[in-house]
Amino acid sequence: MLKQIKSFLLLAVLLSMVLTSCSGTANVKQQPGADAVTETNTPEAALTVTVSVLPQKYFVERIGGDLVRVNVMVEPGDDPHSYEPKPDQMRVLSESAAYFSIGVEFEDVWLDKIAAANAHMLMVNTIANIQRFEMAAHENEAGEVHDNEEVELDPHVWTSPELVKTMSQTIYETLVKLDPSHEAEYSANLQLFIQDIDALQAQIKESLTGLKSNKFMVFHPSWGYFAQEFGLEQIAIEVGGQEPSAQELAGLIDQAKTDNIKVVFAQPEFNTKSAEVIANEIGGKVLLISPLEPDWLANMQAVAQTFSQVLDE
Ligand code: ZN
Repeated sequence: MLKQIKSFLLLAVLLSMVLTSCSGTANVKQQPGADAVTETNTPEAALTVTVSVLPQKYFVERIGGDLVRVNVMVEPGDDPHSYEPKPDQMRVLSESAAYFSIGVEFEDVWLDKIAAANAHMLMVNTIANIQRFEMAAHENEAGEVHDNEEVELDPHVWTSPELVKTMSQTIYETLVKLDPSHEAEYSANLQLFIQDIDALQAQIKESLTGLKSNKFMVFHPSWGYFAQEFGLEQIAIEVGGQEPSAQELAGLIDQAKTDNIKVVFAQPEFNTKSAEVIANEIGGKVLLISPLEPDWLANMQAVAQTFSQVLDE
């Protein structure tokens, strides 16, 4: 008897759930209220994906448009070298159809855990077709590289527009693989983005031509690929992710004087103290630039403009 009551109660609960959900759906269909109108006007994102850093969100959104929703791991103001994803960020990975890695350091520790958080998520290495170079190492007067630093590959590939084209192709192919029905949109968006990058490259080349100097000094060496693409020379203050020693600082001050450097670049995500020390010693100033701004294209234009002014003083 008890067993029968239990099954009856269970059946009643199930039945009420079914009825509730049916009537819910019927209500939306029968009464085209404000909610229903909003739903039909807003295109539902076909895909949700996750990326490591903010500029990648810009790349995916340029190609995916309204069809793709993008989560970002490293939040604004945080340092992608030492970042630790928060528990709720790991949880939302369950909604992601793909994870686009880019080779920033926190991935060394976290990528396996990220992959394990969602077995259905496609893991996409966006730098698979990119040859990275070693971080510039400081040399002493004898030309020998420090013995206390490890060789580290420079992760800041997105500061080169040419490399962004390569990564965009990979992003495009992934979106088409996951959502083939929207191939035409993704393809058209990619073409427009490539055209914008072509225009950006022409604009940067023009603004950096015929300047007095091609050497710039920066605390955190984020601009190596930008420098390589546009014929500039980056002098890093940081040594293997560390503050320079007093001796190294003295060497940098000498170098800044020799090269007639008047501006020392620093990044809002990092300590600016040693940049300020050098700027004081050379009677120059510190300017903040970041490679992590969310509007990648506008940021690249602004940074190129800044370089063209600073290197022509
Ligand atoms: Zn960095």
